[in-house]
Amino acid sequence: MKNNTVKSAEIKKIYMDHSATTQTDPAVVEAMLPYLTKFYGNPSALYSIAEESKKAIDRSRETIASFINASPSEIIFTSCGTESDNQAIISIARLKKEKGNHIITTSIEHHAVLHTCDYLQKEGFEVTFLPVDGYGRVSAEDLKKAIKPTTILITIMHANNEVGTLQDIKTLSSIAHKNGILFHTDAVQSIGKVPVDVVEMGVDMLSSSAHKLYGPKGVGFLYVKKGVPMKPFMHGGDQERKLRAGTENVASIVGYAKAIELAKNSYEAEAIRLRNLSRYFVEELDKAVPDVVFTGHPTDRTPGHVSCCFSYIEGESVLLMLDSLGICVSSGSACTARSLAASHVLLAMGIDVTIAQGSIRFTLGHENTKDDIDYVLKHLPGIVDKFRKMSPLYEK
Ligand SMILES: *Cc1c(COP(=O)(O)O)cnc(C)c1O
Repeated sequence: MKNNTVKSAEIKKIYMDHSATTQTDPAVVEAMLPYLTKFYGNPSALYSIAEESKKAIDRSRETIASFINASPSEIIFTSCGTESDNQAIISIARLKKEKGNHIITTSIEHHAVLHTCDYLQKEGFEVTFLPVDGYGRVSAEDLKKAIKPTTILITIMHANNEVGTLQDIKTLSSIAHKNGILFHTDAVQSIGKVPVDVVEMGVDMLSSSAHKLYGPKGVGFLYVKKGVPMKPFMHGGDQERKLRAGTENVASIVGYAKAIELAKNSYEAEAIRLRNLSRYFVEELDKAVPDVVFTGHPTDRTPGHVSCCFSYIEGESVLLMLDSLGICVSSGSACTARSLAASHVLLAMGIDVTIAQGSIRFTLGHENTKDDIDYVLKHLPGIVDKFRKMSPLYEK
């Protein structure tokens, strides 16, 4: 199949990469606009338009806090999920280094956590990267065994971005607390998709980012449980109780709260719809293409998340071919310096590199329908077949 054999009239635009980012919901954009055009005052200023910005931040903080069962004073706004992860991990490392220098995380974290831990390792901290099972789950036993008298922080993600697998945070955080250790979770992929309740989960810190749940890019928050120490990362003004200096991103914070409000009202029904769609997709894909290896946990995963490997071919080639048909997906393998590197997540799950290289992730969201899936199913088997015929590794 060549690109030009597909008539342009047939080309649709199908976005199936919601774990990478989402379209900002039009209602979110609408909620943000007055805070760019009308109430543009600096929240720290004393005149009335500034008072409007300040009040909007307060209301947004309440909306967001209540959605995760936190208090408003436990929410620190940041610029993104990456900043929240960095803030939580580096702050605890610096504050607790008298007690110890050991941090526990997993081998399947997002780079925002992994590279932060690498950075601390270079500074002399000791980091344990826990293994995962074939579904991408961390075991409570492995965590218990990894704990040392010098352990100061455990950071384990709630939902994995590449394979969708959810961790049993409640069990893992209770192990941390039994040993007097603080627990952080990266919940960027779970908020707005599955229930996230900081009390129920028993976490001390939790990271989130608006653009993964139909909010704007460039705003995140870090939940910090009352009493947990924090050290500022940005120095300057008194914003965010002196924990995060810099003039607040008022419009984006308002948009974030709007996105949370929309999620609150719809996420449960949407989760059911997305789970039905992805189940249909998996069943049909499995019938239509031989040798597909589905990755991640079959049921304990984020709704609408379908990840698989087409053995013996390169995921990136499939991705580019799908792109020429107007379908946006992602592949776990990053083509770095023209050599294919397989995803650290899939390798940690014990998937062979010749299989892991063929990984593709479809993450469904609000706009996707069964028609979109049927369109993908119409084209994907031919694409895989074509690349397999060219692959020296594939013999069938
Ligand atoms: C996207 C993502 C991040 C980073 O969030 P940004 O707001 O893009 O910095 C962190 N962790 C996970 C699991 C993610 O999916």
